[in-house]
Amino acid sequence: MFDSLSGKLSDVFDGLSKRGKLSEADVTEAMREVRLAMLDADVALPVVRDFVNKVRERAVGHEVLDSISPGQAVAKIVNDALIDALGGSGAVPLNLSATPPVPILMVGLQGSGKTTTSGKIALRLGLRERKRILLASLDVQRPAAQLQLQQLAERTGVGSLPIVPGQRPVEIAKRALDVGRREGYDVVILDTAGRLSIDEELMQEVRDVRDATHPVETLLVVDAMTGQDAVNTAQRFNEAVGITGVVMSRMDGDARGGAALSMRAVTGAPIKLVGTGEKLEALEEFYPERVAGRILGLGDIAGLVERASETLDQEEGERVAKKMLAGKFDLDDYASQIRQINKMGSISGILGMLPGMGKLKDKLGDKELDTSIFKKHQAIISSMTKAERKTPSIIKASRKKRIASGSGTTVQEVNKLLKQFDDMSTMMKRINKMGLSGMKQMLSG
Ligand code: GDP
Repeated sequence: MFDSLSGKLSDVFDGLSKRGKLSEADVTEAMREVRLAMLDADVALPVVRDFVNKVRERAVGHEVLDSISPGQAVAKIVNDALIDALGGSGAVPLNLSATPPVPILMVGLQGSGKTTTSGKIALRLGLRERKRILLASLDVQRPAAQLQLQQLAERTGVGSLPIVPGQRPVEIAKRALDVGRREGYDVVILDTAGRLSIDEELMQEVRDVRDATHPVETLLVVDAMTGQDAVNTAQRFNEAVGITGVVMSRMDGDARGGAALSMRAVTGAPIKLVGTGEKLEALEEFYPERVAGRILGLGDIAGLVERASETLDQEEGERVAKKMLAGKFDLDDYASQIRQINKMGSISGILGMLPGMGKLKDKLGDKELDTSIFKKHQAIISSMTKAERKTPSIIKASRKKRIASGSGTTVQEVNKLLKQFDDMSTMMKRINKMGLSGMKQMLSG
């Protein structure tokens, strides 16, 4: 997300860093670029104006003029202002502080990802916080929606309210809370009906449910891909029913991230969570400082580390690292690394989190990096014997043929893998010889 804004802003700051001291004219020029980039990323015009004015006020003056590196100073000012605009530092957690069962009301347009997000939140609260969750669909227009939620509940192993045909949304909501109380649930998630567009009937229905259940959280789910429309939707829902938080779904797509920037300004409610995929695990906290860092091309290292520590097997990582340091890395270890990379998820998702990689990701466009090579390598390695995986140099021509046919590849591909592995081993030996200080020298030189 935010790739275009990230790219443009890093261009601006590249320019500034080459100029020595910053003049007022420089600030003006930088702000023009910031403004264009933000508009381009679909940030609402009043938000852009407000933002640019704030940054200009902070930037023009000795803070920047006297600084040694003007580019860095402006980047920091823009970064801080972005964090403010995104809702201040730190993620805002879901509020669950009420006598159980805590009612959470999910609202949003049809297709925004409301039902999926209900399932994601249920899974998250169930797994991470060991809460007992009851899911209830209030969509009486679409029986399919009720079934969808029931299946989601089954898949996530949480409770779902039995479907009783003919009940009104308010009746279902009350029944859900009753069941929640009687059966000892901690949280009851009420998934309201969506509409293709906002209408008064829908708003009244949501208000009635709200008044009957007094939700602790009223979460609006908006599709990040819809840009400015998402902001309008948020404004309308907030005026009509009042929301306590926003979940932006489809942040995994090439969303015009500006919507996130406008959301807080328009509703006053924080973005609490973001959806990053269709899978039920694909829900993340919204960290303003990380997103700001991404916008500025500073990368989302914190996000990357968190993702890595959640999905990677640490013991396995340490075991492989030790072997690397001892110069004993073999093909089994390489295969283990590939498995870990696969667990991390899409390569382009990871690229987006790395500093300075936003631009590269732009160049790739929608194309995923070609990961089929990893699959091939895995197949080749699993066609080898244990001894061959330990000591690849023992593999003779006849075995290469067998390995190729066993893995559905060619002898050339087998050779390529072996050559690559050889290069990798040589490199590791060199790094070992140099030691850590030598490596630092090499990187800084
Ligand atoms: P609802 O009508 O608002 O309940 O929307 P659904 O929950 O049925 O979601 C509509 C479609 O969006 C489904 O195909 C979901 O799999 C998909 N979806 C939901 N959230 C995300 C997300 O964060 N990323 C992606 N890529 N797809 C999502």
